[in-house]
Parts: sequence; C-alpha cells; structure tokens
Amino acid sequence: MKSLYGKFVLMTALIMLFSTLFGFLLTNTYYHRVMKERNDQKNVEIAKTITNHIEQTPPLDLREYLTTIGGIGYQLYIVDENGKSAFYGGKYRVKNLEKSAIDNVLQGEVYHGMRDFPRETFVTGFFANEMSNTIGVPFKYGSKQYALFMRPDIKLLFSEIHTMMGGMVIATALFSLLAMLFVAKMLIVPITQLTGATKRIASENYDVELNIDRKDEIGQLAASFTTMMEQLQENDKIRKEFISNVSHDFQSPLLNIQGYAGLLKADHLSDDDRKNYAAIIQSETSRLSRLTRQLLLLTSLDQSSRPVKFKDYRLDEQLKACINKYRWWLEEEHIHLHLTMEPTMYRGDEALFENVWDNLITNAIKYNRPKGEIRVSLERTEHGIEVIVQDTGIGISKAEQAQLFNRFYRADASRTKEGTGLGLSIVKQIIELHKGEIQVKSTLDEGTMFTIKLPNL
Ligand code: ADP
Repeated sequence: MKSLYGKFVLMTALIMLFSTLFGFLLTNTYYHRVMKERNDQKNVEIAKTITNHIEQTPPLDLREYLTTIGGIGYQLYIVDENGKSAFYGGKYRVKNLEKSAIDNVLQGEVYHGMRDFPRETFVTGFFANEMSNTIGVPFKYGSKQYALFMRPDIKLLFSEIHTMMGGMVIATALFSLLAMLFVAKMLIVPITQLTGATKRIASENYDVELNIDRKDEIGQLAASFTTMMEQLQENDKIRKEFISNVSHDFQSPLLNIQGYAGLLKADHLSDDDRKNYAAIIQSETSRLSRLTRQLLLLTSLDQSSRPVKFKDYRLDEQLKACINKYRWWLEEEHIHLHLTMEPTMYRGDEALFENVWDNLITNAIKYNRPKGEIRVSLERTEHGIEVIVQDTGIGISKAEQAQLFNRFYRADASRTKEGTGLGLSIVKQIIELHKGEIQVKSTLDEGTMFTIKLPNL
C-alpha cells in the first residue's frame, strides 16, 4: 500500500473494525458486570408470574398455556418429577442444562443460570442461546411437581425499532466511511499537485501555477511553496545573468589580448606601436587577474567558506596605508587629498577591509576629474565608527544609485574607465558581514560621498 490514499483507506477500515470489536467487548463486560443479575431477577419474576397463574387458575390446559407464552417470545422447557420433559416456543441452540439443576428446581429451589452464566464467554451473555443461560422455577400442576426453565427468545425480541436502529447504525457507518474517503481525497489532491510542481521545478520549469486556495496547513504549505518557487526563479535568473556577465567580462579582454598579440607578431613594427600593444596586453591581463580575484572573493563571501576573522587593529593606519599606495596616482591626476582621522581601534576582519578601502579610494580617484578633491574622514560616534569617502568627480544619477551595489553594475558614464562592476557589491557584502551599513549621496558632475557606519562588535 504505497499511496497515502490507500494507507488512509486501510487505516480507516482497521479503525472501524477495531472500534466495533472494542465496543462489543465493552458492552459484553457491562452486561456481565451489571445487567446480568438484573436480567436474571426480572426473568425470575416473569417466570413466577407464569407459574402463579398456572397454580392459581385450575383447570388450565398447561400445554396450551405454555404454547401461548412460547408464542409471545419465550423459550420454555419443563420437566416433571418423573423426568418427562417438553419444549415450548423458540429452540435452544445448546442443550447443556445439568441434571442437578433440574433436580434442585424440582425440590423447590430457584435456578439462576442467567446470573451465573460464565463471564469468560466471548459472545455477549445476553445473546447466548443456551439452556444453562436460563432461570428455573418450581411449580405444581395437578398433583405433580414441575420445573420450568425459560429465557426470552432473542429472535422475537428483535422488533421493528431494533431493525431500524441497526439499519441506522449500518447506514451511519457506511456514510462516515464514504465521507472519510471523500475528505481523504480532498486532502490528498493538493499534495499530489505539490509533488507534480516540485518535479517541474527540479527540471528548472518555473511556470507552475498552484490552484490551492485554502487557509489550513496545506494552504500554508502551498503559499510557502509559491514563495520558495519565486525565490528559486529569481536566484536562477541572477545565476544565469551572473554567468553571462562573467563570460562577457572574460571574453572581451581575452579577445583584446589575442588581437594585440597577433599584431605584435608583425615584422615591421615601430617601437612605439610595439610598446603600445604590449601595454594594452599588460593592462588587459591585470584586468583579468583583478576580475578573477574579485570573483574568488565574492564566491568565498557567498558560501561563507571563508570565516570572518575578527581582530583588533588600527583602522586609521589601514586607511592611511591604503591611500599611500595610490599617492602616485593622486599626483598624476593632481587630486588634492584631505584627511581627517584620529587614532581608532576597530575589531573586524583586517584583510576583508583592505578590499573595502581599496575599492572606495580607487573609485574616488578613477571617477574624479583632474585637479579634483578627495576627502577621507574617520571618526568615532556614539554607536561605533563612521568613515566618509567623498570626491568631486562625475557623480552618479539617482536612477544609477539604486543599482550601484548590484554585481557587474557599471554606470554608463564610467564605461570608458576600467572596471568590473563587482567592487561595490563586494564592499557592501563585507560591511554587512560586520553588521554595518553603507550609504551613498551623489550629484551628477559634482561628486559622490560614501558613508560607512560600523557598529562596535
Ligand atoms: P567598477 O569596477 O566598475 O568601478 P564598482 O562596483 O566599484 O565597479 O562600481 C560600480 C559603478 O559605480 C562604477 O562602474 C561607476 O559607474 C559607479 N561608481 C562607483 N564609485 C563611483 C564614484 N566615486 N563616482 C562616480 N561613480 C562611481
């Protein structure tokens, strides 16, 4: 039984079977413990009424009278003192009345077979159609002593009302079974639908529409499933875009290198041309190398394969060292530098922050104008540390600012400059790993200001 539906049907059938069995056992116990004695007494009283009538209304045709009583719904057995016996009314299934019981009744005792009927019997005592499950009373008829044994005839006791009740119980059981099967089907249909959807998603087909409009747990599962599917679709799109961007960014420098290497092979090249071509090849190679480094860093940040190594260090010294690396470039571009820094200890990943400052400073130089300015400040605030890197460069439009931290994003104005479009996304990721935030304020043709806020960790 592999399907959930099959299991449900089997379980329902088993539950119904076992509850019927359990109910039967419970009723049986109740009969033996409580009802048996009362039943016995009640029947003794009925039997005494019968025998009283026999004894007090002579001359009475005993056979006719007992046949009538038997016809009303009793199983009767009489024995006289000479051992002559007769049955009236319904038949006994088991004739197991002890001789001693008959003798005792003939001697004037009352026989309580119903009360003393063994409890171990599996069949409800009430229904056991056995001669030992009777009551016996003595009576006199004519000059002879008789013993009368009787029990109600269960077959005749079953009236229309019992048939109706029985029918109702069976109809209820059948109806509940059918209703349960229907409900089970209703529960299982969305699960089957979800399984189908999972399979389609596994084969990258995100065009799945789930028509599950429910408020219960299955409805919640379907809603979470839809959210997961949208997220997967988005991730898939980002992944494909990423691969296409990476391929493109590798392809163009490689083509350049190939092209200029071909030109270098030419026989009659002026010294200037050769130097020029070699310089282009060199710059393209360093671009490829930077791209690879940045991609490796991004991947390690994404997969958290590189644990953040926290340590206390002088942030101002790190910033200054980074700026000093580019003194030659600042001088070449005649850019004025203003530094406002105080000695500041910070707890963070020193190696990762190298990338942050490197990217922000080189961007501030790259996208500046000749004879422009760069201001770098570092100060301690109430909640942590604030670093500002501000330039007087080409600026970034409002629309472009929204995409600035996306991978491979490069604003149109900077297309001519060298870059990968990965720097700022790495910066943001590193700052977020340190629970900090980065903001940008920029005006086109006036300049850009990046503010980094780092909390004390
Ligand atoms: P890139 O390697 O292209 O510089 P980044 O992620 O560092 O990549 O920057 C993304 C884009 O943001 C750049 O291409 C540029 O258009 C813009 N940008 C970054 N910093 C500045 C800045 N200081 N001034 C103007 N534009 C900037």
